[in-house]
Amino acid sequence: MEDCLFCKIVSGEIPSYKIYEDEDVLAFLDISQTTKGHTLVIPKKHAKDIYEIDDESMAKVYKVARKLANTLSEKLNANGINLLNNNKVDAGQTVFHYHVHLIPRYDKDDKFVVNFLENENSNIEDTHNLLK
Ligand code: 5GP
Ligand code: ZN
Repeated sequence: MEDCLFCKIVSGEIPSYKIYEDEDVLAFLDISQTTKGHTLVIPKKHAKDIYEIDDESMAKVYKVARKLANTLSEKLNANGINLLNNNKVDAGQTVFHYHVHLIPRYDKDDKFVVNFLENENSNIEDTHNLLK
């Protein structure tokens, strides 16, 4: 896709530190390195986000994500790993080519934080009624 940063990484027009590649999937180090080994796993076929990606590409991406979760943890001596996928602007997506972040974790003081804070304004029963 024209003007897509990650399509340009797939084609080699923009360089990257690749750590895995097959016919359908590419994984490369995220430029921010939020934690050591922070990696992005992407389908080579362009899809914007979870609303657009097809089931087959999704399955292939997550198969590689799991394999790399093991590789990163072993080779970098991580104690755990977070997987994160942002979809659309309000969810924090900045590059609009589907990607899963693999964020190896080392200790509670590393730079990545996830907080599931309690939300008093959300009624769980009302929400359940909308979804069941
Ligand atoms: P998002 O915010 O869309 O979930 O994640 C996009 C990610 O792409 C960010 O973590 C950002 O650091 C990374 N990124 C942006 N530009 C580049 C680049 O040119 N090369 C690499 N390797 N990562 C990039
Ligand atoms: Zn793309």
